[in-house]
Amino acid sequence: MKVLNTIHEDYHIHSLNYSDGMNTIDEIVQYAGKIGMKKIAITDHSQATIDKEKFCFKSWRSSLRRRKNVHNEVEVIFGVEWDLLDEEGNCCFDIQWKESEFCILVCHKDIYQWDWKNITQAYINAIHKYHDKIKFIWHIYKKDTSEYLDVEAVAKVLNQYQIPIELNCSNLDTGRDDIEKFKKILPLIEAGVYVNSDAHTFYDFSKRQAGFDFLKEQGYLS
Ligand SMILES: [Zn+2]
Ligand SMILES: [Zn+2]
Repeated sequence: MKVLNTIHEDYHIHSLNYSDGMNTIDEIVQYAGKIGMKKIAITDHSQATIDKEKFCFKSWRSSLRRRKNVHNEVEVIFGVEWDLLDEEGNCCFDIQWKESEFCILVCHKDIYQWDWKNITQAYINAIHKYHDKIKFIWHIYKKDTSEYLDVEAVAKVLNQYQIPIELNCSNLDTGRDDIEKFKKILPLIEAGVYVNSDAHTFYDFSKRQAGFDFLKEQGYLS
């Protein structure tokens, strides 16, 4: 089981421009440079969550074409935290009808409103449908959405397409993830694990060290 990034890369960050982060993209990029990051992915919530939560509109997604990092050398990419919508595995993967290269598959409790007993099949269908777009998966060990999840069955399909999992350091910190379940899943995932902040604030970046320490304790890092 490989750890796919270092402390200098973070692939799960939210901005004020497109969803519920506390900081703008420019502020995030400046801060990332200050703390020595080399590469970051700003992965805001999909339009399904934006609509449900009534996040107010601030920036056109198409304006991303007009931006460049004018602050530092940090490589910045943009993605979307998808939402699993239904048992057929349909997902919302756009922000303002625009798709992104970098996609995280998750399932939010308020968005997926089908029978939770069928959540395993919903994930499996989504992975079969969209495997070529999904960079990694999360939420399969989140307490509020994984009660009925057969993680071994999901891991098998993830392995078929070599899709990694995420260790989400914000949820590790707040206890919203079932860490015992995560420990069981981790050795099953052949493609490896990303350690990400899921930062909504600058402070969230500081939680990443605990994620790397956890993997060290578990014997995945020396
Ligand atoms: Zn959020
Ligand atoms: Zn997130």
